[in-house]
Amino acid sequence: TVRTRFAPSPTGFLHVGGARTALFCYLFARHHGGEFVLRIEDTDLERSTAESVNAILEGMSWLGLDYDEGPFYQTERFERYNAVIDELLDRGLAYRCDCPKERLERIRDMQMAAKQKPRYDGHCRTRQVDPEQPHVVRFRNPVDGAVVVDDLIRGRIPFANDELDDLILRRSDGSPTYNLTVVVDDADMGITHVIRGDDHVNNTPRQMNIMTALGFETPRYAHVPMILGADGTRLSKRHGAVSVVAYRDLGYLPEALINYLVRLGWSHGDQEVFSLDDLIELFDITDVNKAASTFNTDKLDWLNQHYIQHGEPKHIARLLSPHLGHLDIDPSTGPDPVAVVEAQAARAKTLKELAEISAFCYRDFDDYEPAAAKKHLRPVAREPLERVRAELDMLALADWQDAELHRVVERVAEALGLNMGKVAQPLRVAVVGRAASPGIDITLRLVGKDATLRRIDRALA
Ligand code: GLU
Repeated sequence: TVRTRFAPSPTGFLHVGGARTALFCYLFARHHGGEFVLRIEDTDLERSTAESVNAILEGMSWLGLDYDEGPFYQTERFERYNAVIDELLDRGLAYRCDCPKERLERIRDMQMAAKQKPRYDGHCRTRQVDPEQPHVVRFRNPVDGAVVVDDLIRGRIPFANDELDDLILRRSDGSPTYNLTVVVDDADMGITHVIRGDDHVNNTPRQMNIMTALGFETPRYAHVPMILGADGTRLSKRHGAVSVVAYRDLGYLPEALINYLVRLGWSHGDQEVFSLDDLIELFDITDVNKAASTFNTDKLDWLNQHYIQHGEPKHIARLLSPHLGHLDIDPSTGPDPVAVVEAQAARAKTLKELAEISAFCYRDFDDYEPAAAKKHLRPVAREPLERVRAELDMLALADWQDAELHRVVERVAEALGLNMGKVAQPLRVAVVGRAASPGIDITLRLVGKDATLRRIDRALA
């Protein structure tokens, strides 16, 4: 069976690039009825934090990328890594090296001056190094032949062995290095497909050589091209929000972000909207583009608006509630958020925006929007507002419904010989503070009787 893994280093938040990689790993496993493993690569003790682990787990769970195994932590597996390194030493596939830093720097300078790729010269390959003295352990990389990475996205990438270093497997402090831990884990965890960022493409032939030396079968590899910001440089904090939870807090739906992320490098005809089930059915890693993709917030906003508008109102309301909370609104003090979503879903690109434009349903607004007040709350609006107030006051709470409310406004307009708008617009500005809101009947229903009368009084005062 297919087994993929997502292997983040917990040195920061789960950013959108990492999330897309995780998504590809997840979809590929699901598409093939396989398994998806989460592995936390926390061997860099100085830069790894528990906070970052939590942020990664939180981001994954918010996106709904559930894994079948894990999280595994590399720091819990040092014994295993060291056993593998010792085995390589015993079998002569690795060797101890005690070259002093000065010597390594000198050969590097010479190689750079000769315009050669800097690499270790193999000085200790044939020396006996005292295991009791400080040393590193290096992999005895093959000197002849080539390794070919048969990449599922990029095709065949050959690397000549004589260009690959005898890389360090164990540092002088006894800790194993990234390339060794990844190889051991990918083998032990039965990973069949390694899907990761293309910043790792140069590690792959090295990892394949170590795997082969250990007698492990090498997995297939797929290196995902990077994501660029609008200015053509690698997407980073400079371009705005990059962490997954930041998008959550800005009011994006997980399904919109998933849909957006998958389209960064993958497509299926000209279809734009994909449910997770669609993706599981349609996604294949071999269809991912070789070229980098550019992050485009407008497109994300479009998708987000789509999911807000077409999502199940109950579901959207559940996601909306925390955003109301951020505005210090307790949804139980006003209309059911489901009703708010039904009325407002077409008007907002994000849940944050939806909460902001719906705050009027739960509490009085501070100020009128100046242009709206100037246009609609003029002396001529007094009489319609007074008449409408009197009629609304008489409306029983049980009749505080769209049809009845509509009739009140209509009746007042008729009585005064005005068109509906001349009544509804002043009323809207009085009740909402702005000239834009859902239909006046829906608006009044959501605001409720007490607040409606109170706000009309405020406008008339
Ligand atoms: N831990 C590595 C990273 O965060 C990924 C390693 C891999 O996928 O092989 O970049």
